[in-house]
Amino acid sequence: MKVEHIGVVGAGTMGAGIAQIAALGGYETRLYDPIPAALEAGLEKLNAALTKGVAKGLWNESEADAASGRAGGAHSLADLAECDLVIEAAPEDLDLKRQLFAAIAEACGAKTILASNTSSLPITAIAAPLPHRERVVGMHFFNPPALMKLVEVVATDEAATEALSATTEVGRRMGRTPIRAKDSPGFIANRLARPFTLESLRMLADGIADAETIDRVCRIGGGFRMGPFELIDLIGLDVNLSVARSFYAQGGQPERWRPSPIQEGLVSDGRLGRKSGHGFYEYSDGARRGPDPDLGLEAPVLDPGELAKIDPAAPAILPRLLAQIANEAAFALEEEIGSPADMDTAMRLGFNWPRGRRTWMPDTTTVEARPL
Ligand code: NAD
Repeated sequence: MKVEHIGVVGAGTMGAGIAQIAALGGYETRLYDPIPAALEAGLEKLNAALTKGVAKGLWNESEADAASGRAGGAHSLADLAECDLVIEAAPEDLDLKRQLFAAIAEACGAKTILASNTSSLPITAIAAPLPHRERVVGMHFFNPPALMKLVEVVATDEAATEALSATTEVGRRMGRTPIRAKDSPGFIANRLARPFTLESLRMLADGIADAETIDRVCRIGGGFRMGPFELIDLIGLDVNLSVARSFYAQGGQPERWRPSPIQEGLVSDGRLGRKSGHGFYEYSDGARRGPDPDLGLEAPVLDPGELAKIDPAAPAILPRLLAQIANEAAFALEEEIGSPADMDTAMRLGFNWPRGRRTWMPDTTTVEARPL
């Protein structure tokens, strides 16, 4: 099936960016939002990003003009009737999405593919009330969609091959790298990233080191751009906690996904990260950390002697964290939620991690995981 017209429903953070890359990919794109001011803001953001891209040399002026000409607003769902694919980027609420999918299905033709950009809701649950579940898939973009190269195409048991291959092709034409994920908690990328914050919180609880040390070890030794606690502060402790809770519930409460009591406590104290002025760090004076010292190490560093140059606790931190990431990838492989190659792609492109699973932790690794 050939997709030519794309509808994007929800013009917020994700929707505006998705519409931008759809228009740049050559698709006639209609952005819809029930709140007129949100639609207007989304279209403004889209056009501003197109202009900015010219200044940055990402595309030329005529490409930006053409993309801008292909993108427009829709004032009702009925305006999306001609769309071959509708990508939903409305708030993360199952009931809202179910109602919305029913309304979109009614407004569009029987062949329109319906995709959700949900990060954490099962696609199967969103599709459940619909008569044509074979045309419902996940298309999970990352924030900001115009910069992050990954898109996860999420397959339910009922999704038609045609719908999956058409959305994969759309992802490619939007300039993304599509990977295929089974409909399962957090799909691939967010699931493989789970231990990065959760195991770090456990190390904090175990008294292995403080947050600042764990972050520094991850940056210098692991090659991560940000340490886990800086990342949680940026995302918001409450947002990260609700992701943790969702995994724990959807996964049948496995011990390794149990949310951190430390984080629960900080959230109930209102320490939500940067947005509240304090989380694991204080942001009241807007202070940012300085550059890390150059210790002449090349990440990833796994040799205990080399790691100790960063901090005496580092040999107990990085191998443990990487082992848990490798463990999660092993569980995910066993459950066949994606191919090994797609898992590597997810790690590198979903979060700009420095390495994929196999580069960090070859299958023959002797680093031991902490017993679960
Ligand atoms: P957002 O709050 O920025 O935008 C949501 C938009 O949906 C708003 O403009 C709102 O007016 C509109 N909306 C409200 N009710 C609606 C309805 N009934 N029908 C259509 N639109 C409606 O949210 P966001 O961050 O863009 O997230 C949207 C979706 O993308 C969520 O499912 C989220 O899980 C997912 N997602 C978010 C991120 C992220 O980092 N923000 C990353 C990946 C996926």
